[in-house]
Amino acid sequence: MNIHDIRLRFDHASCSKCKGAGSFISPQGSRPCLSCSGSGKTLTKRGKIGFQAFLSIRFQKINASEVKPGDFIRQSGSGIFNKVETIKAEKDSLGRIWIKMTFHGKRETYGSFPALEIERLNQSVSIEEAINQALALS
Ligand SMILES: [Zn+2]
Repeated sequence: MNIHDIRLRFDHASCSKCKGAGSFISPQGSRPCLSCSGSGKTLTKRGKIGFQAFLSIRFQKINASEVKPGDFIRQSGSGIFNKVETIKAEKDSLGRIWIKMTFHGKRETYGSFPALEIERLNQSVSIEEAINQALALS
């Protein structure tokens, strides 16, 4: 289930820009609607609240000092979660904390994570449970 499929589990309506077509016909041919990313559907106000609740249940914002080996983390805004192997408890002169982790399950690297910019994948809640909890909240 990708993130677009998950979004549409929440209250949505036909896209007002493309009238639900998902694309526009122009003299140059068909181009996808940017408002709905080509799906023809956008979240309602209630749907947006639910989807945000889902994100906050599934992806927890934590401080670098809370990271543990085995966590899947990413810096906010980037798409890929990396598994933390070991933690090098060392701050550099810029206050960054350096973490050793696998990248795509293979390569090991060090990443710097400023405090308050880490998202941890909540492995105790499945995608389905997170959707249901979020639907109940919205
Ligand atoms: Zn659209």
